[in-house]
Amino acid sequence: MADYEVHIKYTEGELRAELDCPLCKEHWVFPFTAREIFGKPYPSPSQLVSLHLYGCGQDPRPCPGFDPGKPYAIETADERTAVIRI
Ligand SMILES: [Zn+2]
Repeated sequence: MADYEVHIKYTEGELRAELDCPLCKEHWVFPFTAREIFGKPYPSPSQLVSLHLYGCGQDPRPCPGFDPGKPYAIETADERTAVIRI
């Protein structure tokens, strides 16, 4: 198993979130409905990583570096960090 940390950049007020994917090395932008709910960024880091891996967002297509056939886990480490465990 290997852990890949993903840091999410929430752009406050612009309703979007960005991340650099460690699997495909691409910069990915989630352009809509990123916002704070109850003082916490939403969608959560693990949800945003899932959206990228399965293909969502500005340029909708699955992550080219991700193999959904292998076991994996995605966890939220803190309010702006997710961990992909493969
Ligand atoms: Zn990717």
